[in-house]
Order: sequence, then structure tokens, then C-alpha cells
Amino acid sequence: MSIPDITLNDDHTIPQLGFGVFKVDPGETERIVSDALEAGYRHIDTAAVYRNEEGVGRAIAASGIPRDELFVTTKLWNSEQGTDSTRAALATSLETLGLDHVDLYLIHWPRPDLDRYVASWQTLEELRGEGLTRSIGVSNFHRPHLERLLAETDTVPAVNQIELHPAFAQRELRAFGEGHGIRTEAWGPLGQGKYDLFGEQAVQAAASAHGATPAQVVIRWHLQHGIIVFPKSSTRERIAENIDVFGFELTADEMAAIDALDRGLRVGADPDTATF
Ligand code: NAD
Repeated sequence: MSIPDITLNDDHTIPQLGFGVFKVDPGETERIVSDALEAGYRHIDTAAVYRNEEGVGRAIAASGIPRDELFVTTKLWNSEQGTDSTRAALATSLETLGLDHVDLYLIHWPRPDLDRYVASWQTLEELRGEGLTRSIGVSNFHRPHLERLLAETDTVPAVNQIELHPAFAQRELRAFGEGHGIRTEAWGPLGQGKYDLFGEQAVQAAASAHGATPAQVVIRWHLQHGIIVFPKSSTRERIAENIDVFGFELTADEMAAIDALDRGLRVGADPDTATF
């Protein structure tokens, strides 16, 4: 099993498949992330607001895996956007993780109503210069938010992490990002279990053709589109299943059939109007 690396616009690399820990219980995070590391994941996606950075850090420390073989992402929560508060937020995350740097630090949501994401981004640029994060990126940014960063700041985000699954394929936003060297990361890659993605005929047919599970087919669909993906699971079997996706390839017809499931079905919040 070999997870491909993707080279970002700052020349750092990121494992294309990782492990997400949204809604992973803080009390169980160390065990679950340890299971993921044991299964072979080397890229962990957490956030300050998940309240489980401590467990992620403990699992990393206990694993004995050299730090430079791991890729850790965390995110700036909305209430901390700004200049000094952004700096303090990353310091707190690093302390909680027990790390001296993260590999990727993201602005979690643009919160355009606050009008602080440009100032936050300029602080991320400084923090990267100080070595506290290797790469910097954004999450839940729509095209106008990206355009503001491109126009008003010096650094193009390395990634934009957005809700993305077959029924919400985000083609235009992906194309815009990739036209500017911004790689797309998918959150909710399995639709967060909020609609019957795994029951779709296109997914079922590909699964039986390849002797794979529906989740493995959907993860392949992301990978074959060049998307960075980190499905979440708290069960050992599914954690192993979701990384066991390098023994088959979807055909062009199977990819097209899954592409045809796109119907603009957002299951999470709309970044233009979210106020949390
Ligand atoms: P997901 O689409 O990965 O769905 C997770 C759910 O799918 C699990 O709770 C489980 O019920 C089910 N599942 C997982 N593997 C399965 C399998 N093999 N078979 C059957 N069911 C399976 O949703 P997610 O966790 O929200 O997204 C992945 C990661 O993206 C998160 O953990 C987090 O790191 C990140 N994320 C980021 C944002 C953001 O705003 N930036 C928002 C949500 C999530």
C-alpha cells in the first residue's frame, strides 16, 4: 500500500489520503488516532474547535513515528480570527498538540461578516515565516474570498478545504482553485452519512465490479480526481478499510457515473452565511 504524495504550491508535500477527527470524542482520540497510525495513515486533520488536539498529540508521541514522516493539520477557529488572536491560537494549538510546528494551518471558515480573514491570513504568512507551520491554507472559502486574498496579500493558499462528495462535487470552485495553484481538500468526503451515498446504483455497481466496499469506491473517486481526502471513522475495521484503496482503479465510465450524482447537495453550513 502506498499513499501518493501531492506537491503543494510551496513545494511541501502532503499525503493525498489522511485521517480526519471531526466529532472524534476527545476521550477516545488517542486510541482512535493510534489505530489510524497503526493502519498506515500519516496525515491527520484536526482543528482547535474539535477539542481533540491533545489526544492527537498523545497518539503521535506514543507512536514513535519520526515527526518528519507525519503530516499534521490544524485550524484557526472563527472567534480567534484577527492578528494577535491568530498568533495566540496557533501557540495554544501547538502546546495542546505537543508539537513545535504543524504541517498545515488553515483559516477554518471565512466568516465574511467579521471581515477579519485578510488580517488573519497576513498573520498566517508571518507564522509560516517563523517556522510554526510549514504550509498555510484556508477552508470553506468561496471564490470571492479567495479572490480577495489573491488581490490583497502575497501568498496564494496551498489548499482550500471544502465540503465535497459526489452529490456536492464543487466543480467550479475546484477548477478556480486549481487554476491558481490551490489544491482542493474534501471535507465530508463520504457525505457525513447524511444521505444514502452508499446506496447509489453507480457506487454499488463499481463496488461489486471491484470487490470493494461503497466507502472504498467513493474514496477512490476523490483520489482519482486529484482531491486530498481524509475520511473519518472511529471503528478499527473501517479505519483499515478506508486506507485499503490502492488495489483497484475505477474506470472512466465508473468515474463518469459517480460524477453524474452531483446535484448541489450541501449537507453542512454555507460559508457565506455561517455565523458560528
Ligand atoms: P465523512 O464524510 O468522512 O463521514 C464520516 C462518517 O462516515 C463516519 O462518522 C461514519 O459514520 C461513516 N463512515 C466512515 N467510514 C465508513 C465506512 N468505511 N463504511 C461506512 N461508513 C463509514 O465526514 P467528516 O468526518 O465530517 O469529514 C472528514 C474530515 O473532514 C473530518 O473528520 C474533519 O477532519 C474534516 N472536516 C472539516 C470541516 C471544515 O469545516 N473544514 C468540516 C467537517 C469535517
